Amino acid sequence: MRSESYWLDTAPVFTGAQTGALPARVDVIVVGGGFTGLSAARALALKGASVAVLEAGRVVGEASGRNGGHCNTGVAQDYSSLVASLGAEQARAYYRAYESAVQSVVTLVEQERIACDFRRSGKLKLAAKPQHYEGLARTCELIRREVDSEVELLSAAQVRAEVDSAEFHGGLLQRNGMQMHVGRFGVGLAEAAARHGALIYQQTTVQGWKAEGNGYRVDTSRGSLLAGQVLLATGACQHGGLGWYRRRIVPVGSFIVATEVLPDALLDRLLPERRSYVTSRMIGNYFRITPDNRLLFGGRARFAMSGGNSDAKSGKVLQAAMARMFPQLAEVRTDYCWGGLVDMTADRLPRAGQHGGIYHSMGYSGHGVQMSVHMGQVMAEVMDGKVEANPWGDLEWPAIPGHFGKPWFLPAVGLYYRLQDYLH
Ligand SMILES: Cc1cc2nc3c(=O)[nH]c(=O)nc-3n(C[C@H](O)[C@H](O)[C@H](O)COP(=O)(O)OP(=O)(O)OC[C@H]3O[C@@H](n4cnc5c(N)ncnc54)[C@H](O)[C@@H]3O)c2cc1C
Repeated sequence: MRSESYWLDTAPVFTGAQTGALPARVDVIVVGGGFTGLSAARALALKGASVAVLEAGRVVGEASGRNGGHCNTGVAQDYSSLVASLGAEQARAYYRAYESAVQSVVTLVEQERIACDFRRSGKLKLAAKPQHYEGLARTCELIRREVDSEVELLSAAQVRAEVDSAEFHGGLLQRNGMQMHVGRFGVGLAEAAARHGALIYQQTTVQGWKAEGNGYRVDTSRGSLLAGQVLLATGACQHGGLGWYRRRIVPVGSFIVATEVLPDALLDRLLPERRSYVTSRMIGNYFRITPDNRLLFGGRARFAMSGGNSDAKSGKVLQAAMARMFPQLAEVRTDYCWGGLVDMTADRLPRAGQHGGIYHSMGYSGHGVQMSVHMGQVMAEVMDGKVEANPWGDLEWPAIPGHFGKPWFLPAVGLYYRLQDYLH
């Protein structure tokens, strides 16, 4: 079994990275070479700005190259809760922002001709308990009435025809969801950004910055450089110098296993529609078929950080959950097991804008494949003076009480969620 992301292992090598010294000055420094940073760099370069992307590791080496590959419409929260907390109009605007985000990915894939197995698969949310089905039915009615008439409620029998497991009591289908090979997409996006003129430096960690002249001097592990503007696209930001953001983002491990290549006949019985699937539990699972016929099965598993040992332990939890859900796969070999960090905000809504003169976009809370790509483009507009382009610009962003960067409270949150799953 390989302890690395299936997507990164099967992606082409990125050939557009800079190998020489950093330039003395650029118009914009983008910190982070995930989807947010690369998409922003591409859009800024297309506007004629000189851009340097500074990435601590390799491009799309973190969340962007380690996720489930679902590119879905719909907000990360339950829509009814969003309406209850923010009101119908704001909830509708946020739902539409996710629709625009999916469309941004569609357009980008077409414009840059990125071969990434992009397909409209639909997303099916699966009710793990009868009362969850009742909740999905209420949410479905609300979404249909308020914002998206194409959402459908599927009965237990309809779900059983789509998902060959006895575990589910019905589901909510969003037909506009897409899926893709995120490694191929990410490398394609990086090549496109480089082709349009962005300078991409890997193995270059940003350590801090200070105002200088009309811009900022940014210190990195490979020396310093000047820029007029700086965009932080640092996701769950595990490096130094980002204290203000680390108090507002909780890094939470999410883990994935991928099976050996499975025969078509088995998959045609198991998941004939080959959609993106997610279960309704708080500590739930998500799964899909990869382009080469593996079942990719993920979830938060243990509410822990990601890393060698933690990923392996979580992989075992996921293998057991997969075998419970699909007993017909109990003997199937697992070829890949990996983890990554999700950048959670307290309300699971992204944050984007400016703090102390420095721009940021992050906090997609596990629902960022589409939104990170979209927000990269949006931030290029915002940094060009069009602040109204930012759908998240009005959200306040207080620090999370008691959180100083290391999420010491994750085991307690995991216990609470487990209890909720048991009770409700
Ligand atoms: C296991 C897992 C499953 C997921 N599944 C899904 C899914 O199916 N659908 C979905 O919509 N979302 C999913 N997500 C979330 C999604 O992957 C992220 O929201 C999205 O990729 C965020 O992109 P980003 O560019 O903002 O962050 P990242 O991809 O994390 O990129 C940030 C980059 O910044 C770099 N960086 C940080 N600090 C510094 C520094 N100081 N100097 C230089 N570089 C720095 C990091 O090295 C990193 O490469 C999942 C996430 C995980 C971890």
